[in-house]
Order: sequence, then structure tokens, then C-alpha cells
Amino acid sequence: MVKVTLIPGDGIGPEVSYAAKKVIDSTDVNIDWEIINAGSDIYKGTGEFIPEKLLDSISRNKIVLKGPITTPVGKGFRSINVRLRQKYKTYANVRPVKSIPGLKTPFKNVDLVVIRENTEGLYAGIEHKLTDGVTEAIKVITEKASTKIVEFAFKYAQKNGRKKVTAVHKANIMKISDGLFLECARKIAQKYPDIDYEEKIVDNMSMQLVMYPEKYDVLVMPNLYGDILSDLSAGLVGGLGLVPGANIGDDIGIFEAVHGSAPDIAGKNISNPTACILSASMMLDYIGEKEWATKVRKAVWKVIKKGEAITKDLGGNATTEEMTEAICKAL
Ligand code: NAD
Repeated sequence: MVKVTLIPGDGIGPEVSYAAKKVIDSTDVNIDWEIINAGSDIYKGTGEFIPEKLLDSISRNKIVLKGPITTPVGKGFRSINVRLRQKYKTYANVRPVKSIPGLKTPFKNVDLVVIRENTEGLYAGIEHKLTDGVTEAIKVITEKASTKIVEFAFKYAQKNGRKKVTAVHKANIMKISDGLFLECARKIAQKYPDIDYEEKIVDNMSMQLVMYPEKYDVLVMPNLYGDILSDLSAGLVGGLGLVPGANIGDDIGIFEAVHGSAPDIAGKNISNPTACILSASMMLDYIGEKEWATKVRKAVWKVIKKGEAITKDLGGNATTEEMTEAICKAL
């Protein structure tokens, strides 16, 4: 029995995270779920955005399946998602982006992984107003975190039979901060002569991804670039409803979709549960349940290929629940 902390989240979070739970509960993997929420809904009742009992549960279980949580734009509290990533030092955000057979998209052979530094960069939370009309945000790039994330990317490539790592940067302009990131990347690359290494400036990388995504394999980059390019990459394979993610630390894994709480479709039972279900399958891989992880992925692909029980974003008219049910049946 593996204990997992489930954070349902808000917006479409509960719909998609309970869908993922349902799929995992339909496998033979025995999970004991501890369900504790965070976010502004919880704050209304408890005065806490992240309740102490949730922190205790995460610290004990070290495996988390999480639904998206809303962060107010331009005001209000600091992102709970970012706070959890920083608190638990999940330094690597891993987002595999893969074309799904049978799904109509502009590209057929996308199979890349965005690996994003997850604890520093422009997300360090150092931002202030200097005077009226003048603000400042500080981007933190350290040798330690840059080395760690690039080493993670090469190890990931090695372990998963990947051929190439591309370091994405803007060191032509941010010569000192992104320059340090690149310096670390070059050092690490030398330790892995069997894996090709290349560098791309982030603006060019964006164009490359929308023109020739099939050329790319493992991409490693500082925090903000990873956030942006993973949504861009999701658009290449059918949208945010499809792309899973994992926040990985030395001894902890927090699994969550790339997408957010999608307030525009929340509560309508039309959100695509795939991204969260595939995040749960990454969790199964992480806990050593590789066979079931593969079965879950194949069940998702089968349902999408068949096209009978797919949600609106994929061109169908199934509800979240109907698609989830179909995936459970396809296991
Ligand atoms: P979003 O990812 O929530 O939605 C962007 C677009 O994609 C919307 O049109 C939405 O309907 C669609 N979409 C997203 N997920 C979908 C799904 N599963 N099925 C079908 N369509 C889907 O991005 P946003 O609207 O910019 O952000 C909304 C909120 O989510 C913000 O408060 C943001 O801070 C938060 N957010 C949270 C996380 C997280 O919890 N990890 C990640 C990203 C954004």
C-alpha cells in the first residue's frame, strides 16, 4: 500500500484529479489516498492557503498528485504551486510532450521533454516597487541549481534512451545570469559524450518548436522559459488538456498537469482529464509500477484514437466523466 497525498485544487482541479484517482483506483495498484486541499477555497474556512495538515501529509508521504490551483493575477496571494515547489525543493519540472496517434494536429511526430528549473529564476519571488511607476523583479540563477537541473536532464536522457539535450537560454542579453546557466550546462555536457548537446536562444527556440518540433528531444532551461515553452509545446500536440508533468526533488515527487485551473470551463464537466491522468501515470512510474503506468498511457491513447469518448477540446462531445469511464474500461 502506497500512501499518496491528493490535492484536488480548484477550478477544473477537482474534476480532473478525481478522474485520475478513479483511473488509478481501477488498476491493481493499491494506493491509500490522503485528500487535503489548498487554495483560496480553503482559506475562506481556515484562514490558511496551505493548511498545516497538508504540509505534514506531503512531508510524510513524499508522493503527491495535485490538481491545479488558481493564483490571482497582478494582486493577492503568492502562487501556492510555486510555494510548494520551492518548499519541497522539487528542482526539476518534467513535462513530456508527445503526439498522440490518431489525433488530428499540425504535427505527427512530436516527442520531446521540457525540463524546467523549478525553484529559482524569475520565480524566486523577489519583486518590489522602487517608487511610483518603477518596479523591479530579480532573476536568481545559481551555479548549484543550474548544475543540478542540467545534470538531471542528461541523466533523464540517458535513462530514457534519448539522443540529444538542448539548453535553452538568453545569454546573449542576460550575459551574467543566463551566462552562468550556460556555463554549467557546457560543463555537464562534457560528462555525457554519448548524448548530443546543443544550445538555442529562447526566441529562436520558440520559432524552431512551431516549425520543426520533431527535431527536438530533451530541452533544459531556466524557470520562466520552461513555463512558456511547455504551454507552447502543448499546443503542438493538441492542447493543454493533454500534457502531464512532474515536479521532482531528491526524495519527493509532486505530479500535476501542465495546465491551470481553467476557470472558463470549470464546473461544466467538459475539461479533458487526460493531462492529469497521464501525470498520475508518471506517478506510477515513479513508484515503480511501470507496467500499470504503461497500461494507463495505452488506455488513454486507445480512447483518443477511437474518438468516441473524447472531450470538446479534442473535437468530441464527451463529458469529463464519460471520457474517464472510457479510459477505465480500456485498461
Ligand atoms: P489554464 O491552463 O488554466 O487555461 C488555458 C486555456 O486552456 C483555457 O482556455 C482552458 O479552458 C484550456 N484548458 C486548460 N486545461 C484544460 C483541460 N484539462 N481541458 C480542456 N481545456 C483546458 O491557464 P490560465 O487560464 O492562464 O490560468 C488559470 C489559472 O490557473 C490562473 O490562476 C493560473 O495562475 C493557474 N495555473 C495554475 C497552475 C498549477 O496549478 N500548476 C498552472 C498554470 C496556471
